[in-house]
Amino acid sequence: MIISIASGKGGTGKTLVATSLALSLSENHRVQLLDCDVEEPNAHIFLKPIFDKRETASIPVPVVDEEKCTHCGECSRVCVYNALAVLKTAVMTFPELCHGCGACAYLCPEKAINEELRGIGVIEIGRSGSVDFVHGVLNVGEAMAPPVIRQVKKHIFSDGISIIDASPGTSCPVIEAVKGSDYCLLVTDPTPFGLNDLALAVEAVRSLQIPCGVIINRSDVNDSQIEAYCDRENIPMLMKIPLDIEIAKLYSRGIPLVLGISEWKDRFIDLFEDICACVKQEAI
Ligand code: SF4
Ligand code: SF4
Repeated sequence: MIISIASGKGGTGKTLVATSLALSLSENHRVQLLDCDVEEPNAHIFLKPIFDKRETASIPVPVVDEEKCTHCGECSRVCVYNALAVLKTAVMTFPELCHGCGACAYLCPEKAINEELRGIGVIEIGRSGSVDFVHGVLNVGEAMAPPVIRQVKKHIFSDGISIIDASPGTSCPVIEAVKGSDYCLLVTDPTPFGLNDLALAVEAVRSLQIPCGVIINRSDVNDSQIEAYCDRENIPMLMKIPLDIEIAKLYSRGIPLVLGISEWKDRFIDLFEDICACVKQEAI
């Protein structure tokens, strides 16, 4: 079972949910947490994993053999990312714009393009208690998060429960992180911005045909707009985490909610049962 945790905007408490869900389920299940928020991973701050393996995250970029190149311009025409410019006597490459799709090498009529790997980040693999942990870290100044996310997701278990902490928003990195999930939890807060961005996130997740449910974090007297939206859209409201000074203090000290306030463990186990019921319902 792959459960992704996403949100339309940052600061809603995705990581709070992801880490507490992983810890709660790890007593009785094989669980891993994959932090796919590669531009700003922070689940490790809460789970404090011990890393025992490190891999370079890389993409293949073109290297032109000028001996074979006839400067026909085909590679430049096929590259939608403008990562190649063909001049009369040379081909210029811009590796930082390259997405590593391989189209230029495949279509070069002279087979003049080879590929070399360019490191854009690292993948760290380890363990926090009984939770297996993987995260990706994009190098500073790099813009290509999806290849790093794909490399993190190569570590998904073939059995057990994999929890994916996606980046905030609804752009390519979120789609890359969430796609392939059995269920997506959308964490929001009861503000007009929260509602607006939740609606965008729902649209994105539905376009991937992934069932979703909502968690309101910092729940207070203003929940009604989010509840009305979920009713209208027939989206289950799975949990509310109250606006509470103790919860905020735990978060600010990097302590997972279920370790700071143990009653929450049962609520997260119930949450998982609700998710399983929703997934079964969708499958009928
Ligand atoms: S497609 Fe191949 S031969 Fe043509 S310009 Fe590019 S590298 Fe050179
Ligand atoms: S690999 Fe793809 S993105 Fe990179 S230069 Fe070639 S065509 Fe462009």
